[in-house]
Amino acid sequence: MDCLQTRQLVYRYGQDTVLDGIDLRVPEGSIYGFLGPNGAGKTTTLRLILGLLARQQGEITLFGERLERNRIGILRRIGSMIESPSFYEHLTARENLRLLQTIHRCPPQRIDEVLALAGLADTGRKRTSQFSLGMKQRLGIAIALLHDPALLILDEPTNGLDPNGIVEIRELLKRINRERGITLLVSSHLLGEIEKLVTHVGVLHRGRLQFQGTIEALKQQQQTMRAVMLRTGDRDATLRVLAAAGVTADAQDDGIAIPPLPRERVAAINRALVAAGVEVYEIGLERNDLESIFMDLVEAA
Ligand code: ATP
Repeated sequence: MDCLQTRQLVYRYGQDTVLDGIDLRVPEGSIYGFLGPNGAGKTTTLRLILGLLARQQGEITLFGERLERNRIGILRRIGSMIESPSFYEHLTARENLRLLQTIHRCPPQRIDEVLALAGLADTGRKRTSQFSLGMKQRLGIAIALLHDPALLILDEPTNGLDPNGIVEIRELLKRINRERGITLLVSSHLLGEIEKLVTHVGVLHRGRLQFQGTIEALKQQQQTMRAVMLRTGDRDATLRVLAAAGVTADAQDDGIAIPPLPRERVAAINRALVAAGVEVYEIGLERNDLESIFMDLVEAA
């Protein structure tokens, strides 16, 4: 069953259509990576799901119920951290949690549980103003977990962290998912930061979901969609050599595309071209659309 579903979610800031028909499906128990370059609309989507922005068009269903039908009941089952976590900097982690525990009226023992879970049990009298960025993020997650939610929504939780901090958050989130069975929806603009964490991915680009599925399916699609691109000094001779080798070729403006082939066959084609006196400038993998989006996500670091 899906923990979260959106159907044809559309959102506009004035004339600007930021989300243009988003169908998110976050399976129960998954760790869903919500990827997109800066400005793609990730925060807007998460805010809509949390009811922090008024829905304009489309449907949002959580735990099998439409958000507007049972807003309070649904939101009680969600923990979130959108942008930077906020808490009282002059208080300790425990004092911050105690305050919120009183407000949320959750059992007092939850404080120790979430402190231990977030690896903050030893922070003692240290005020949160003295926390590292990674510790602050982990406290933000501990706060989001205090009322024992079934779904945790985190907006760029590793943003600005050093590699060590990123690993700590990743391990924490995996533990939360594995040990508590909590579904996670985690946004990021960097694939590299979350690909080791997530089970499912949604790639948002230009207001649309360009891909959605398991991380394995994404990798497979990347591979199978890529073509091999040949750039040589003689287009006609190249096409003749390819035809003789029984390879379908597609002559394009910037080179000749052939289907993905085993490396040995590509090497054989290279040898045949050289033997035919054709100058070979480049043999490389062509980027498909998804690949380009991805490279943007990976290279945006
Ligand atoms: P980032 O990783 O940079 O936060 P994002 O994917 O979370 O990016 P959003 O913050 O949802 O993207 O923003 C999507 C688009 O909507 C951007 O072009 C942004 O400039 C625009 N936008 C966001 N908030 C507002 C607002 N209050 N008024 C007008 N435009 C906005």
